[in-house]
Amino acid sequence: MTRCVVLLSGGLDSMLAIRIMQEQGIEVEALNFKTMFTCCQDTSAQAARALNVPITVVGQEEDYLDLIREPQFGYGKGANPCVDCRIYMFQRAYKFMETVDAQFIVSGEVVGQRPMSQKRSDLKVIANYSGLEDLLLRPLSAKVLEPTKPERDGLVDREKLYDFQGRSRKGLIALAREFGFSEDMIPTPSTGCSLTEPGFGSKVHDLIQIQVDDTRWDYEILNLGRHFRWDEATKVILGRDEKENDRLEYIHTMPEATSTAILEPASFTGPSALITGPATSEAVEYAVGLVCRYGRVADGAENRVQVSTADKSYDVVASDNRRAAEDQTIASLLIR
Ligand code: SF4
Repeated sequence: MTRCVVLLSGGLDSMLAIRIMQEQGIEVEALNFKTMFTCCQDTSAQAARALNVPITVVGQEEDYLDLIREPQFGYGKGANPCVDCRIYMFQRAYKFMETVDAQFIVSGEVVGQRPMSQKRSDLKVIANYSGLEDLLLRPLSAKVLEPTKPERDGLVDREKLYDFQGRSRKGLIALAREFGFSEDMIPTPSTGCSLTEPGFGSKVHDLIQIQVDDTRWDYEILNLGRHFRWDEATKVILGRDEKENDRLEYIHTMPEATSTAILEPASFTGPSALITGPATSEAVEYAVGLVCRYGRVADGAENRVQVSTADKSYDVVASDNRRAAEDQTIASLLIR
């Protein structure tokens, strides 16, 4: 029995790649790669169900952050090191392929579809650096690429593969309909990865360039709140709604947290804030100002903010701090 591993993101391309293999009677094991920056597990599980294939989800390991910090092949528009990330994914897929006794790997990549990782030269780099070489088949663009080993060995009929190139989805959608995909099986395009978003990317670049001793926790918290860079060692992170305030409170209690203080409005409604790095009196004063700036303080009232560090908890009266934070041009310290 011919068996392959297909990288399934849940997007249309990888679903079509699975279907093309099934049309040739090839058994498919789907593999979804999850990082702390991706969110496609639900869609990939749904896609696997719709296509009736088993799916395994693998997560990033500790070394994944090294390629975010220093990618060999650079970043896209955000902080997305897509070529390095694809190499990393395919290296894991290679190991998985051996454990499930599959003969080759399949991906839904289309030549020229994504500027960062699907140029013809990128596809070659990814195949070479992952160690897969010609065990990596891209059925949607196979006819415009060199024949791979499964094609040469007759495991896959090259004549029944495709020659898609470029960014248009028209042909892919037509193929999906030909295969009988219902309209709700055809997902809208999405990277599902926050590293590609410029705003999120700025926060990642800020960590990499300014806070050289960053930890996994520092990356995890990037998904939460507004981030203000106070100095090289210190940030203030502000919740944007109640859910984020609760989440900040929880994440502050984690053993690996690098936050040193949590601030909560004591006499008005407003955001919670975390300070990461040393909670100096200047940093606390600035954070108190931010809590007021984004909270509903009453003019002329005594607005108090509770500050809790590892060894003490105290209230700060905020009216002067509020002005101080405004004077320090809050917006210029917001990482965006
Ligand atoms: S979009 Fe994100 S998950 Fe996808 S290849 Fe790029 S960095 Fe990796």
